[in-house]
Amino acid sequence: MNNPVIIVGSGLSGLRAASLLTEKGIKCRVLEARDRIGGRVLSASDPKRPDLGKFDLGPKWFWPQYESQIAKLVKELNLETFEQYSKGEILIERFQIKPPERCELKEHTDEKWVRLTGGVQSLIDVLAETIPSEIVELETRVKKVQLNEAGDITVEAELSDGKRKKFPAKAVILALPPRLVAHHIEFSPSLPPNLIADIVKKPTWMAGQAKVVAVYDRPFWREVGLSGYVLSAVGPLEEIYDASPNNGPGALFGFFGMPPAAREKMGQDKILKLVVDQLVKLFGSEAKNVKAIFYKDWSSDSETTVEEDLSPLKNYQSYGPPPVEGVWEKKIIFAGTETNSEYSGHLEGALQSAEQAVAEIINLNEKDVS
Ligand SMILES: Cc1cc2nc3c(=O)[nH]c(=O)nc-3n(C[C@H](O)[C@H](O)[C@H](O)COP(=O)(O)OP(=O)(O)OC[C@H]3O[C@@H](n4cnc5c(N)ncnc54)[C@H](O)[C@@H]3O)c2cc1C
Repeated sequence: MNNPVIIVGSGLSGLRAASLLTEKGIKCRVLEARDRIGGRVLSASDPKRPDLGKFDLGPKWFWPQYESQIAKLVKELNLETFEQYSKGEILIERFQIKPPERCELKEHTDEKWVRLTGGVQSLIDVLAETIPSEIVELETRVKKVQLNEAGDITVEAELSDGKRKKFPAKAVILALPPRLVAHHIEFSPSLPPNLIADIVKKPTWMAGQAKVVAVYDRPFWREVGLSGYVLSAVGPLEEIYDASPNNGPGALFGFFGMPPAAREKMGQDKILKLVVDQLVKLFGSEAKNVKAIFYKDWSSDSETTVEEDLSPLKNYQSYGPPPVEGVWEKKIIFAGTETNSEYSGHLEGALQSAEQAVAEIINLNEKDVS
């Protein structure tokens, strides 16, 4: 039987796995719940102002001196990169009633924080071009994975019209946050208790976070010697960085200090007003002239986040490969950044997990042939 490998999820790990399997001539299909590819990678543009460019609402940086797989892939795919802007002073906001302090930003080592021109979405888009488009099925939410006594696997998914579709599978690569597997996918027979206990202890990276990007006609803060980098004990943003494209308008992005429940209670309009007020306090009245503003609260996105992710991270998390034993061994293979030991949470971890999953599939294939 020559069933395809089914990959659940079209984030960076799922797409990389599909690309590597395609390169090896191994049949695969990618099933994706959302109506878009990329998962936590999301680069937004304003439909009314596409000239402003694309801005990352998910990941933004990689660190090539430590992260060899992403550095290699970006080079192979001929993607253009540039370094995070960091010249000038940092602002520290300690008290609500006092102006922020300006401090010199210490030249830290030779560590490079690297960005992709056109946003991280450009990596996703170019990677998607390396696989046949017809193998990716959007709005196909995997609900159940079944294994019969003969060892055949069937993956069952719900489509956008509520209908169910079944996919026979040679093996299944679960390229999605492990907690989503535990919460949203039924297994028959059930997954062993030790495996479930392990996967629920892998919090989804950044799932409780939200990001805002304010776009201006130019990076005016640079003209007065500011880097755009801010640390705030006051909020609503607790960390702010320059998010300007390498050519064109200016942009600032920030991570929130407010917990998810407080953001939900306050609502988007009020949050965005507070954000602009904070930017004006920090950078002066020019910060009022926002050309576009983007907001993404990942904590309310059920394709990334489950309820446990809304609480602060505790020390009990255990990133790395889940222990798959018993009947499911060699039938389901976990990928996704949370299943990588060294770079869990990062784009690098997503890529390394995909390579590991594909190595396991190749191993299975070789055993089939011998
Ligand atoms: C705000 C933010 C900032 C970040 N900043 C950085 C950064 O600067 N640098 C860095 O290296 N990393 C950063 N990260 C982390 C990085 O985004 C992730 O490590 C990476 O994108 C994870 O990829 P993945 O493929 O493992 O998972 P995901 O991207 O989560 O992909 C999983 C996919 O599975 C799909 N899915 C879910 N359920 C189902 C189902 N039942 N059936 C079918 N499909 C399903 C989802 O829709 C999704 O497309 C950031 C993340 C966020 C949210």
